[in-house]
Amino acid sequence: MGDVLTDTQHRAQRYSLVETRLQQPLDKGRTRCHLCLWRCTLRHGQRGFCQAHVNRHGTLYNLSYGIISAIDVGPIEAKPVRHYRAGTKVLSVGSYGCNFRCGGCHNLEISWGTAALDALARGEATAAYAAPAELITSALRLGVQGIAFTYSEPAVWLEYVMDVSQLAREHGLYTVYVSNSFVTDEALATMAPYVDVLCSDIKSLDDAFYKDICRAASVQQIFASIERAQRLGIHVETRTNVIPGKNDELDMLRGIAAWIRDHLGVDSPWHITKFFPAYRLSHLRPTPTETLWRAHDAAKSVGLRNVYVYDDKGCDCAQENLPVAAYLMQAPEEVHAVKKCPSSCCGEQGVLLKKYEQALGQ
Ligand code: SF4
Ligand code: SF4
Repeated sequence: MGDVLTDTQHRAQRYSLVETRLQQPLDKGRTRCHLCLWRCTLRHGQRGFCQAHVNRHGTLYNLSYGIISAIDVGPIEAKPVRHYRAGTKVLSVGSYGCNFRCGGCHNLEISWGTAALDALARGEATAAYAAPAELITSALRLGVQGIAFTYSEPAVWLEYVMDVSQLAREHGLYTVYVSNSFVTDEALATMAPYVDVLCSDIKSLDDAFYKDICRAASVQQIFASIERAQRLGIHVETRTNVIPGKNDELDMLRGIAAWIRDHLGVDSPWHITKFFPAYRLSHLRPTPTETLWRAHDAAKSVGLRNVYVYDDKGCDCAQENLPVAAYLMQAPEEVHAVKKCPSSCCGEQGVLLKKYEQALGQ
């Protein structure tokens, strides 16, 4: 392993505000952020919809640079990505803030993350920080082959995503960007030279579905971003989480498959995942197995060749996770051993869903 820290002494080793990459000064101290399609216009003291960018005296800063809300090691197939470096492992990281407010979000503490971001804005944060070089050093020590930016929309901390991705490339690691694709062309063009894989949600074909979770979003914007990413040379795979009564109409699922066929290609992988109740959609049932397979068959009937169904059990038996610092400092064997459910439970890797539900008193 090379001495990553020595190679990158110019990169921040301690937490500090980092200037937002894509910003445009306007009149009267207002500044516009061009990272995602909200394109927030902010005055001094204001924060963007995602809460992760703040205007200080006419300059935008990213509050969450290097702040790690969640971290894990696992197979690339779990992202889900199946047609890129199959059988390899990734170190997944996320920060706080998101540009959507999905009713069924399982990552509320992360995506809304206001407590953590408020503390950062006040300069009182206790959240874990990893400089890009530190993250790369950890990934190499843990023996993974890639780094995934996930858990909430990576566009809202693109500054960190870019610095890590550039360093990852220098050290032979690939990068995966798990996204809702409500991102600008400028952000895509910025990341395209360094990000290897985009795994994007296609949540619905219905604008009303998108308006409900992000009033500024439309289906066409999402489609345009996904298509553009592929044209820029990023390996693209897509995913639809099928929610009973919300986006499970067969015609619509067939329509999504047809769009993928026509715009990404017949071989483009589509991942159909099962919904598990959470947050504002806690009253719904998990997606029935038949619905998932009907979507699969509909996609096959329109000619899509690589369609994957995830009819998992949605285990949420884990009660706590290793602290972030453990991934950055502990021996590889200990990190790879975490989060296994006991065989008396499901025997699979747990997902910390319960924790979020409990935090909300649900
Ligand atoms: S990333 Fe998106 S939501 Fe956040 S400040 Fe920029 S434009 Fe607004
Ligand atoms: S895009 Fe993902 S992280 Fe963001 S609110 Fe929706 S489900 Fe949660």
